This record gives sequence, C-alpha cells and structure tokens, in this order.
Amino acid sequence: MLKQSQLDLCGRVDFTREVPLLGRDEGFSFACAGCGDCCRGREDIVLSGFDLWRIAARLRLPPRTVARAFCKASIGVVSRLPVLRLAPVREEGNNCPFLTHSRCAIHDAEPLVCALYPLAQEITKEGSVSYFLQPTSCGGQVISAKVGDYLARYDIPAREATDVRWAQVCMALEDRVEALEAVFEPVFIRRVQQKLWQALYYRYDFAAPFLPQLEENLRGLDAELEKLSALQKRRNVRFRESIEKTDK
Ligand code: SF4
Ligand code: SF4
Repeated sequence: MLKQSQLDLCGRVDFTREVPLLGRDEGFSFACAGCGDCCRGREDIVLSGFDLWRIAARLRLPPRTVARAFCKASIGVVSRLPVLRLAPVREEGNNCPFLTHSRCAIHDAEPLVCALYPLAQEITKEGSVSYFLQPTSCGGQVISAKVGDYLARYDIPAREATDVRWAQVCMALEDRVEALEAVFEPVFIRRVQQKLWQALYYRYDFAAPFLPQLEENLRGLDAELEKLSALQKRRNVRFRESIEKTDK
C-alpha cells in the first residue's frame, strides 16, 4: 500500500514506480484472503473530483457535504493543489467510512484507487495511460487475470477518459500554481486555494455530468486567477509608490 507522503497532485499518487508497466493483454496475479484489511486503517484512499462527484451522485448529496462528512482535506506539500482522502473512522476500528458489515456501501461508485487495487494507473502529460501491479504483502487465494479483463470487470475503461483529463488538468495547474505562489502574498495564496477547491471538487451538481462541469469550472478558474494576478500587481505598484514617497 502507498504511504501518505506519496499522495499529492489533487489526490493523484506521486511516486517513483519500481515495477514494470503491464500491457492490457498481459496477465498478472496476486493473492487475496478476502480479509477486508485494504478498507481499514487506510489514510491513502485519495479522491479525484470525479471520484467525489460519483460518490455524491450515489448518495444524492452535494459534493461538499460528502467531503465534510467522510473526507480529510489538505494541500499537497509538493503540488500545492487540493488533496482529498477518505477519513478512517476511529470509533469503528479505523475502518473506511463506507465499510459496512465488511462490504463497501458505495461499491458501484467506489473511488478509482479502490476499483483498481492491486493495479495502479500511470498517466503522462501527453495523456497516455498505463497500468502496473502494486507490490502487496497479502496471502491467500491466488487470483490471475489479464489486465484488460480486470479493468473491464471494475468498469475502468468507461471512466478512463475522465481520469486522464483530470490528471492532465492537475499537472497543468501544478505548474501554474507554483508560478503564482512565487509572487503572491499569503492572502492571495489562500484565495487561490479556495478557488481550486471550488473548481476541482465542490462546484458540481451531482445530477449533471461531471466533465462539462469540470471544463466550465476551469474556464471560471482561469478568469479568477487572472483577476487575482491583476490585484496582486496593483498592490505591488502601490507598495513601490509608497516606498518611493517615503524615500523622498
Ligand atoms: S487484498 Fe489483501 S488486505 Fe485486501 S482483502 Fe485481500 S488479503 Fe485482505
Ligand atoms: S470506498 Fe469501499 S472499497 Fe474503498 S476503502 Fe472504502 S469501503 Fe473499501
């Protein structure tokens, strides 16, 4: 399983892969005893905006309500982008909040990380998507499958285009936010973060398709970031002018 320190980039996993990529026609195998421990004590079940929207649609609740009730929110140390992950419930043995009677209560809307396990996804800036087998230390019945069949079983191909778009958006935003944070005052940085949360996770209607809303939110975000940049520039000019006045 992945460590918390590997979580970043809007919940994408950021780490150096040490195992080979697998073709969709290639086979893989892993052992599973069906103990359910992969739904317990996990701090690394990270959600994309699409994952949150799917859960919100399943529960018929606004995404922000779902996030408040079931997730932990933070800002990625490296990416400086929002990171949302499922919050284990301490009073219930540190289980995932959706683990009910040893079953996933949101099985048909489970996060990508859960649907893929023990596979993981790698997406490049150019949008090519590959899969690999995460190292596991589980024992039990050996399960063997072709990658393509395993993905199809969990409906991954149907959501792949959205996951690729999400990853590309996060990678592009990471560069943009890094540049803004280099010149913004803390008050503007906090506003950037609020805008990112809204555009990527919260400003969504669970009854409408996700992708058009993401694109619409990105256009709005673009305009809002431009506005903040202009505000920061005006403040810089005023600050320079006041320094010049006091120097005279
Ligand atoms: S993958 Fe491992 S932790 Fe998860 S149910 Fe199977 S044996 Fe248990
Ligand atoms: S969302 Fe479902 S599959 Fe994923 S950790 Fe929680 S209970 Fe397990």
